[in-house]
Amino acid sequence: MLDLLYPRLYVPSLFDIDLGALQKKGINSLILDLDNTIMPRGARRIEQEVEAWLRRVREKGFRLCIVTNNRDRSVPELTQRLEIPVIIRAVKPRRKPFVRALELMDATGRETAVVGDQIFTDVLGGNRLGLYTILVDPLGGKEFIGTRFISRPLERLLLPRIKRRFGG
Ligand SMILES: [Mg+2]
Repeated sequence: MLDLLYPRLYVPSLFDIDLGALQKKGINSLILDLDNTIMPRGARRIEQEVEAWLRRVREKGFRLCIVTNNRDRSVPELTQRLEIPVIIRAVKPRRKPFVRALELMDATGRETAVVGDQIFTDVLGGNRLGLYTILVDPLGGKEFIGTRFISRPLERLLLPRIKRRFGG
């Protein structure tokens, strides 16, 4: 059970992901979390730096899909100009939204990585399907109450071990 809570990789931020190394593992598709992974939760726009990174990732040949538990209907609008499909109200760690993302990207589980800032949604959800999971540090936007008072305190118990494993 505990294994399901460990990411396959931990890096401080998106920019630290070694895309070439992923490609060598046969990974060509990324399921990206939105809140506090791509943008601070509650922010109105995606930072230019992140947008440039997303374009670079796609130019390298990766297929992308954003999967978010956010229920805000303005999210798709926000990400529209990036031309990346978005699944909102995902209820991660349920399997269904991840399966749907694979369908949208026309990708198999073996060639797909999940990138997110939360162990109990992104990492657990991805691991349940056997996807390659990458944990990043949260960007620091204001968090959902359940995240703040339940998930994060539990994460704090696991993070030192995870970071030690990856030399963070
Ligand atoms: Mg998040």
